Amino acid sequence: RSFEEAGLPDEVMECCKTFDKPSPIQANSWRFLLEGRDFIGIAKTGSGKTLAFGVPAIVHVLNKKKNKTCKRVNPQCLVLSPTRELAQQISDVLCDAGKPSGVKSVCIYGGTSKGPQISALKSGVDIVIGTPGRLRDLIEMGVCYLKDVSYVVLDEADRMLDMGFEPEVRAILNQTNSVRQMIMFSATWPVSVHQLAQEFMDPNPVKV
Ligand code: AMP
Repeated sequence: RSFEEAGLPDEVMECCKTFDKPSPIQANSWRFLLEGRDFIGIAKTGSGKTLAFGVPAIVHVLNKKKNKTCKRVNPQCLVLSPTRELAQQISDVLCDAGKPSGVKSVCIYGGTSKGPQISALKSGVDIVIGTPGRLRDLIEMGVCYLKDVSYVVLDEADRMLDMGFEPEVRAILNQTNSVRQMIMFSATWPVSVHQLAQEFMDPNPVKV
């Protein structure tokens, strides 16, 4: 499979031009994610999973923007990550990938001052990448509005639950739009992750 076959907009595929072809997880996820299907990916870091969910996230934003005229942009996509390091890595990739098409991302994580993160949210962003604790804080402060979020990614879902973030994850998911596409990536598939998927996803998600 080639990048051309994926049928994605040129400005979105810019970020892939240094690679020869889609990685297996990309080739097997893009078409389903572009169709709007809920998706479970059992994949590790290093598989190219960031662009597997990131490229369709950018397309999702662009599709929603086409039908909008309002100036202030509320986030349309949300990526939850267990750690600050992973969140920053994802954010770096998505900031770059979104640049040619003008899709803006912000990274929200704890252990640092809230000010710049609040300013970024106020200036309008399309994609929020965050760790559960700080994100819930900002939601409770009323500075992070997620009701327009219709594309949600839980990255390293198993690790997120292992770290005890389940209450935050549930609270955050309940703030997103009830009509949403849910994507979960996990290295393992324990009962806790399975239950979360059953509760928040379509009954028949694509599993890769
Ligand atoms: P990830 O699993 O998203 O953390 O990606 C791991 C590494 O694979 C990163 O350094 C990416 O830049 C790289 N990568 C992503 N997509 C591809 C691809 N299609 N071909 C080769 N490398 C890739």
